[in-house]
Amino acid sequence: MKDGLLRADCASCAALCCVGLAFDQSDFFAYDKPAGVACRNLGSNGRCGIHPQLEERGFAGCVWFDCLGAGQRVTQELFEGRSWRDHPELGRSMFDAFRAMRLVHEFLSLLQTAGQLPLTSQQAEKRDALLRVLDPPQGWSTQTLIAFEQSDTPTAVREFLTTLRGHLGAERQSAENR
Ligand code: SF4
Repeated sequence: MKDGLLRADCASCAALCCVGLAFDQSDFFAYDKPAGVACRNLGSNGRCGIHPQLEERGFAGCVWFDCLGAGQRVTQELFEGRSWRDHPELGRSMFDAFRAMRLVHEFLSLLQTAGQLPLTSQQAEKRDALLRVLDPPQGWSTQTLIAFEQSDTPTAVREFLTTLRGHLGAERQSAENR
């Protein structure tokens, strides 16, 4: 996996999280926003207009959200730096690709963390196989991302992560006994 792949770089992204994702009015978001509609706080410069006051203004969810590098990857690698703002016809595929890439990066992050656990050789092999699927040498395209969402891979990753619960319990126990 490339260094920095899972680190968000908002300056290289077309504000995909502020448009592509839906949120519901709650303790974390001040109003209901459907997916594919720009947040009313998003400026025409692509920056959040209330960034320094997100929590005070009722948008703690934005503070906690981390795209894990999916946003700039979709913007730069799949859409060559273009934006849904200048090319509205691209919006739907950009947001679909972002949703799928966010899941890919979340899985990569979890599997990376899993590498620090004392895995059995069978678990280590399974982890490596899943990492190869999630980080293909040829990269991702809008088509392969959609195919990924519809494939068995998300279920396979979740099932594998479930098998690691014992390790996490043992790690916690050993930390408590230190
Ligand atoms: S409040 Fe700001 S950071 Fe949150 S979705 Fe809206 S524009 Fe983006």
